[in-house]
Amino acid sequence: MPQDTLASLTTLRLGGPAGTVLNISDPADWQDTVRAIGTQEHGPVILGHGSNAIGADAGHPGAVLVMNTRGIAVKTLDDMTVAVTVQAGHPLADLVQWAADGRLAGIECLAGIPGTVGATPVQNAGAYGQQIADTLDSVTVWDWDMGRPRTFPAPACRLRYRSSRFKEAPGRWTILTITLRLTRSQAAPISYRPLAKELDVPVGARPSVQEVTEAVLANRRRRGLLLDPDGPDARQAGSVFLNPLVTAAQAARWSAEACPVHRDSDGELRASAGWLLELVGCRPGEAIADGVRCSEHRTLSVVAYGEATAVGFGQALTDLAARVRTTTGITLQPEPVRVGQWAVETVRY
Ligand SMILES: Cc1cc2nc3c(=O)[nH]c(=O)nc-3n(C[C@H](O)[C@H](O)[C@H](O)COP(=O)(O)OP(=O)(O)OC[C@H]3O[C@@H](n4cnc5c(N)ncnc54)[C@H](O)[C@@H]3O)c2cc1C
Repeated sequence: MPQDTLASLTTLRLGGPAGTVLNISDPADWQDTVRAIGTQEHGPVILGHGSNAIGADAGHPGAVLVMNTRGIAVKTLDDMTVAVTVQAGHPLADLVQWAADGRLAGIECLAGIPGTVGATPVQNAGAYGQQIADTLDSVTVWDWDMGRPRTFPAPACRLRYRSSRFKEAPGRWTILTITLRLTRSQAAPISYRPLAKELDVPVGARPSVQEVTEAVLANRRRRGLLLDPDGPDARQAGSVFLNPLVTAAQAARWSAEACPVHRDSDGELRASAGWLLELVGCRPGEAIADGVRCSEHRTLSVVAYGEATAVGFGQALTDLAARVRTTTGITLQPEPVRVGQWAVETVRY
């Protein structure tokens, strides 16, 4: 049987051999998994669907835990509110559709984000003016350092723009379940202007959950923001850079040149990473390096093809960030997470 690789477990399809792949589909098997990992020299790499991960060419000699547990449990809190506890491996797309079918509001704008529910707190997944922090109540984890389960209420997860305590300490915690508070109501007020335009409603309007879910999916489809495993841009991890922090002076300087700048939910000023990439000459579909190009639809989604390597991909991102820094003084930070054994000196962003 061919050996599993990090490439086979991630959407970018980069990365070398995995020591052991443990597919976690039954929560009741968790203690057996802990015992198996406990005897290994290397800590585990944890993956959901691998849609935000770059696997190292050298692979990972230890265990790779692929979270595939599924299930949704609902508890009514009052006439309006339900607590929804979801297994980490549950596909986010299924959960969003389930909520839309049940007219439960709070996660409708997350439609079309690939991956698992358990990964959403890791980078506070979000889109179209909504993020998982808006509805997260608590997270249960396995703490590998303490060797026991723990529950973090949402504030203890330190969720902020595309980050959290889980992203800061990769491998320390495996998220087992998350609990959301959803409301039986119209969708949350629309705050993202392009979504309001898609729905043909004013900002602040509250269409039905189903309408918003469908509008988000339609908008993402048109903008090439859905993962199509058979399409030309199949090998990607979504946006490769976060929208970078800018000073007030940089914001004034670059918004005068038409760069979109916004104040995020954390209160910080951020510029559009996609606009900055276009400024330094990137264009949809154009090659960046051997085996690395921008997606057919947008510069910010960088795609691997042919004989691409993880080091080559990482180096291409490093070079792009350097071009933006030289031209604007603004520092781009990568969004996807590097997993496996990366030689520290090979790639710097
Ligand atoms: C086409 C496309 C569009 C995208 N659009 C968006 C978007 O609009 N907004 C957005 O936020 N993201 C977006 N993404 C990125 C990605 O889909 C999300 O970040 C998603 O939440 C990742 O889920 P996953 O299961 O694939 O995580 P993985 O890629 O498997 O893992 C990502 C990180 O989370 C960790 N992790 C995963 N599961 C667990 C767990 N159970 N416990 C602890 N750690 C865990 C991994 O170790 C890794 O560090 C997009 C990606 C693609 C390819």
